Amino acid sequence: MSSVLDTKIEFLKGVGPQKAELLNKELNIYTFGQLLEYYPFRYIDKSKVFTIGEINSSIAYIQLRGIITKIETVGERQSKRLVAKFVDQTGEIELIWFRGIKWIAPSLKINHEYILFGKPTLFNNKFNITHPEMDLVEQALLSKSVGLEGVYNSSEKLTKKGLSAKGIHKIQQNLIQQVKGHIFETLSENILMKYNLLSKEEAVILAHAPTNDEQLQKALFRLKFEELFFLQLQILQQKVIHSETIAGKTFGEIGTQFNTFYSNYLPFELTNAQKRVIKEIRKDLGSGKHMNRLLQGDVGSGKTMVALLTMLIAIDNGYQTSLMAPTEILATQHYSSIKELLNTMEIHVELLTGSTKASKRKEIIDNLSSGKINILIGTHALLEENVKFKNLGYVVVDEQHRFGVAQRAKLWNKSSNSTITSFENKSELPPHVLVMTATPIPRTLAMTLYGDLDVSVIDELPKGRKPIKTIHFFESYRLRAYGLIEEEIKKGRQVYIVYPLINESETMDYKDLMEGFENISQRFPTPQYQVSIVHGQMKSDVKDFEMQRFVRGETNIMVSTTVIEVGVNVPNASVMLIESAERFGLSQLHQLRGRVGRGAEQSFCILMSGNKLSSEGKQRLNTMVSTNDGFEIAEVDLKLRGPGDIQGTQQSGLVNLKIADLAKDGQLIQLARNEAVDVLKEDPILQFTKNSHIRNHLMKIKQSKKNWSKIS
Ligand code: ADP
Ligand code: MG
Repeated sequence: MSSVLDTKIEFLKGVGPQKAELLNKELNIYTFGQLLEYYPFRYIDKSKVFTIGEINSSIAYIQLRGIITKIETVGERQSKRLVAKFVDQTGEIELIWFRGIKWIAPSLKINHEYILFGKPTLFNNKFNITHPEMDLVEQALLSKSVGLEGVYNSSEKLTKKGLSAKGIHKIQQNLIQQVKGHIFETLSENILMKYNLLSKEEAVILAHAPTNDEQLQKALFRLKFEELFFLQLQILQQKVIHSETIAGKTFGEIGTQFNTFYSNYLPFELTNAQKRVIKEIRKDLGSGKHMNRLLQGDVGSGKTMVALLTMLIAIDNGYQTSLMAPTEILATQHYSSIKELLNTMEIHVELLTGSTKASKRKEIIDNLSSGKINILIGTHALLEENVKFKNLGYVVVDEQHRFGVAQRAKLWNKSSNSTITSFENKSELPPHVLVMTATPIPRTLAMTLYGDLDVSVIDELPKGRKPIKTIHFFESYRLRAYGLIEEEIKKGRQVYIVYPLINESETMDYKDLMEGFENISQRFPTPQYQVSIVHGQMKSDVKDFEMQRFVRGETNIMVSTTVIEVGVNVPNASVMLIESAERFGLSQLHQLRGRVGRGAEQSFCILMSGNKLSSEGKQRLNTMVSTNDGFEIAEVDLKLRGPGDIQGTQQSGLVNLKIADLAKDGQLIQLARNEAVDVLKEDPILQFTKNSHIRNHLMKIKQSKKNWSKIS
């Protein structure tokens, strides 16, 4: 069904083919409907007219009424500008134009009364206004732009063709006249009543042409709610469809391997959270449905043991399993610790990474396809085509945020008894998938990013851990930091020193690292002290060798780049010193800090920073000092950086929201999700008449998504 909203944008009054082409290119806007969804990013109040005498620096935008008494062009070439003197009863102010002088100058009339709108700026102790919007008083009164007005994002190209913020405002007003009476409701009567929402049409019109603030807020609420509701509906529907339609292998029993290990070799008592999570996973594995689960747990919460125990369940049921880690160091560490834990049991564990020798690789591939190997641990190397299992039943992915979405998809979509990645034989059931992450994701974001997964959370650290003490030192107090390190080493503990490496290829960063290493080596000289260094440009066997020396306690200090960020476990290490800590993001700082505090002794995290800090940098470091709670840190991170910068959001397309904001509208996300859950619970495929608006709109969204995927 075509509607006015599908009309091509060039047919809108004030647009035409040229501007239309620009709107296509710059803003992806092709139709009336799409332009309508291009909402203002803020609103300004044009209801009040100030006098020049009232101007002060606390006023961001101002509306004045007065006359121009003088116009002149001053300066040469680059500094050429148009200056007008604007006066009212209370004083005078300069208006300045740097661009468009040619056509602005002749359009200004001396001694005519204007309403102007602009941003006063202080220059040489005097206020002036650059590039004000000017309307003759008669016009201003006619165009009714005397209340709240939306401000639209524009670009240089758009502005050149007459689509400045103001130009876009103008065509939006034309558009509203055209589409009145044609904007259909998208929500059900129930929902409208329940939350006392404006109709879709009212809300859209008010968002572009607000009458007063109260109405505007109601309009924005309605539109944001709707957007988030449909987002959640899509995510949840996927989840429902997944769990209803994709069958999984049933791991019916807990057998010898699990029981033997649990009763004889478990090195510690599980925390209650670990027990609970294992039960949740076990229930999934035995349900006959396909498991697609995210395990969230702060650094050091003991996710590896959960992975191992649940892998044993798969083995007990006759299946092979696989554990994939993002880095070679981490995969190797998993391999050695799991191998040691299973030391006396008859379970065949192997490690496959990019640097596995060809002969070993061949042996592994043979033993995989014959079913001899029970657990294969590795890096991306596991995803390669020729890595074929006999009967893969369960895949665990560690630190999943480190894998790109494409890789995640590879695991998701495959369901095979042969390779991890590809599958042709559809009659085979897919292996169960558990992804583990230590990056705490704010709940609101998790609901959206991972809304299609089931989520388990380990919210408890093993007993006896002392909270890590975090201290921030400015550069000038470096010697104190070294003093603390010395004390800890004297007690027999080990120390990490981490340098930022924002760009792996940047030689500057390596220079910092190498200089730091020299300094440390001088301050902590051999033979009394042993200092290791590890970074991304080292050969992997050298890297491993150094890493292993530190793991075995043969070196006191490990100087490195962030290669050790993920997963490495050395319980004897008690100090994490982070150099140029202001250059790291919050979640990365938290990850790094999690490398210590794994034993029973007091651990320290030292944040070294330059003496000058930006206010955001300060806020990040203060947050680290004040809390150890990963989720709290994640919330601050989301507020500081916005959702676009949080790992995984860019690729997910979730940041393409038109009006809602994942960082700011947290409560609304919860509300919208709850409502979506309720609707789907009662009517999973939206067949009830009362949900027909919802069904139609959802179909439209899906349709337009499809069209896009065809284009891109
Ligand atoms: P993460 O969740 O960060 O992957 P790990 O699995 O590496 O954490 O566990 C961190 C450390 O805690 C390891 O040394 C591990 O042996 C230990 N650990 C895990 N669970 C427990 C527990 N229930 N009691 C005591 N120590 C534990
Ligand atoms: Mg881990």
